[in-house]
Amino acid sequence: MSSLTLAGVEQRYGETTALADVDLTVQDGEFFTLVGPSGCGKTTTLRLVAGFESPTAGDIRFGNESVAGVPPEERDVGVVFQQYALFPHMSVGENVAYGLQFTGTDGENPEPRVAELLELVGLAGFADREPSALSGGQQQRVALARALAPEPDLLLLDEPMSALDARLRERLRREVRAIQRELGVTTVYVTHDQEEALAVSDRVAVMSDGRVEQVGTPEQVYQEPSTRFVAEFVGENNVFAGRARDGIVDIGPTSFRVPAADGPVTFCVRPEAMQISCETNQVTGHVEYAEFLGESVRVGLSWRDRELVVRTNAVPDEEELTVGFAPEDAVVVA
Ligand code: ATP
Repeated sequence: MSSLTLAGVEQRYGETTALADVDLTVQDGEFFTLVGPSGCGKTTTLRLVAGFESPTAGDIRFGNESVAGVPPEERDVGVVFQQYALFPHMSVGENVAYGLQFTGTDGENPEPRVAELLELVGLAGFADREPSALSGGQQQRVALARALAPEPDLLLLDEPMSALDARLRERLRREVRAIQRELGVTTVYVTHDQEEALAVSDRVAVMSDGRVEQVGTPEQVYQEPSTRFVAEFVGENNVFAGRARDGIVDIGPTSFRVPAADGPVTFCVRPEAMQISCETNQVTGHVEYAEFLGESVRVGLSWRDRELVVRTNAVPDEEELTVGFAPEDAVVVA
């Protein structure tokens, strides 16, 4: 197993800067997720780590060793992509055994190891099937088994669930996480789905525009977003900007009591922190919509040319709604 470090990594394609000065450390055995909107540089990061491309600047290290100049096949990395990419002319078992031929030990007699891996991914007995006779979820399990076959130091998963339906995606992500825990393999997972990132990861790097905005546990990036981008990308948020003085933030005709240092300030309040029963920091807005979600109701309020989102227990029957938030529920961001 191995830790992974990216130090000052930059990747340019002509005029495009896909990655700008990325510093990241993934600990040995960690499940680490890169999350961010389309085009933010997630796949580029994985490609550089896998060795499919070389960075235009910076260094990538596995443990303490730089992998600069080391070709992909010598990096001990297993990769699963969004597209299943199984070899269609090979059976499931042959697909899984494919990775073993490079490792020496099991290359001569792969069957026991193939059976073990298929068992691990819940496909015991599927070795003789053709990939075309498998569902999408099963194909991704085979791709995972193939990537894990040579016991890689590092497992890279690039949106491996995105072609699957929501329910299957949830099930498979739990399975992948359980397998990763069992094997203790250092894993970098790429997704644009922030909910998925929060659900499966030890730590998350939120990326935007080729940069890392914040690295933290799922709780940290949700509860203590360090930038406005993270506050709005990870879950929903209501963002306010104003000027603070003596614990009061002035945002035009209204002011809020928020524990912020004097000067210009941006803070955010989660929809679930805006409550009808709260008598501090109240705002009254016009109810634009109310969506019953089962466990709560998501209400959109128009307030001063903008929308506020709040969560309530019941669909409001008035046209106007007053909600407030506690000063300690406001999170100041950069
Ligand atoms: P997605 O979620 O859509 O896969 P991503 O976060 O993985 O997006 P990347 O694929 O890493 O994003 O792309 C980052 C940026 O680099 C994008 O602006 C993309 O257009 C650009 N880019 C990636 N590969 C190349 C290339 N080979 N040539 C030119 N530009 C590229």
